[in-house]
Amino acid sequence: MKELAFYGRGGQGAVTAAKILVATCLKDNLYAQAVPSFGQERKGAPVYAYSRISNEPVAAHTYVYEPDCVVVFDWSLLDLDINFHQGVKPGNILVANFTGSVPQGLSQYAKIGFVDAWAVTREVIGNVPPNAAMLGALARTTGWFNLASLKEALQEAMPGRKGELNAACAQTTYERTSIMRQCPVAKESLMLPVLKLFTKGHQSLMTSNKVIIKREGPYATKAANVKTGAWRQVRPQVDLDKCNGCTTCTKYCPTGILEVVDKKLVIDYTYCKGCGICPTVCPRQALIMVPEEGGSK
Ligand code: SF4
Ligand code: SF4
Repeated sequence: MKELAFYGRGGQGAVTAAKILVATCLKDNLYAQAVPSFGQERKGAPVYAYSRISNEPVAAHTYVYEPDCVVVFDWSLLDLDINFHQGVKPGNILVANFTGSVPQGLSQYAKIGFVDAWAVTREVIGNVPPNAAMLGALARTTGWFNLASLKEALQEAMPGRKGELNAACAQTTYERTSIMRQCPVAKESLMLPVLKLFTKGHQSLMTSNKVIIKREGPYATKAANVKTGAWRQVRPQVDLDKCNGCTTCTKYCPTGILEVVDKKLVIDYTYCKGCGICPTVCPRQALIMVPEEGGSK
């Protein structure tokens, strides 16, 4: 399985790119998944999206914490202290939208694909988000999916002339993306401060070239200020006689609000969205979804 993290700003099409990537991979007979994540929902604010591509069904629904490939729509996110190198391991791939020479300090990547996606988009389509351009660069850099499938997916997502232009844009960046290959170096001096951020609230262990994250308590993805429990129409209910505290469900909850305490599952209903994933992964059928009565907590 390949896991990808897309970093952009609101209005740049990072979330749409992740969705079109899924449609593309389905055409290549792959399994794929897109997981959007929004911060402040306004133009220009940082936006993240995640994807998984696999030859087998994908069970995980969480955000991606250790991406195989990082796709950066906007290098200036660094100015906002958005560290898109977090979770990278030596040997990962970076696909970036920037002009000029490759920035320093990227020696942990085995392969870097870069292109001026804004310039190509303006040239081929006009003043629109560079998502088709970035997907063309991604196809060229990774080789994980076919350009022809991407062009088809773009044309299906945007029928008519708009789709044709987006497909042409993807083709152009595919041809113009510069690829830099390098022998990856484990940059512990770089990774350590990053991991401090990444593992905030988690217990971490670091060996010479491998990071093991042990999640303790809710995942960092819980949007503490958004009471997502209010969205719920059905809620998971646990049968504590059946639950043996195996923690399987905690690994699949996309909101990260399941926790095993004293070998029993605890559900934080303030944030549970009622998505219904947890009962599907419980090996002991200890969870069921029941209708919400009298509104969520
Ligand atoms: S139903 Fe609630 S607890 Fe279960 S996976 Fe979805 S968000 Fe998590
Ligand atoms: S997967 Fe089932 S048995 Fe395991 S902790 Fe969750 S509810 Fe309990």
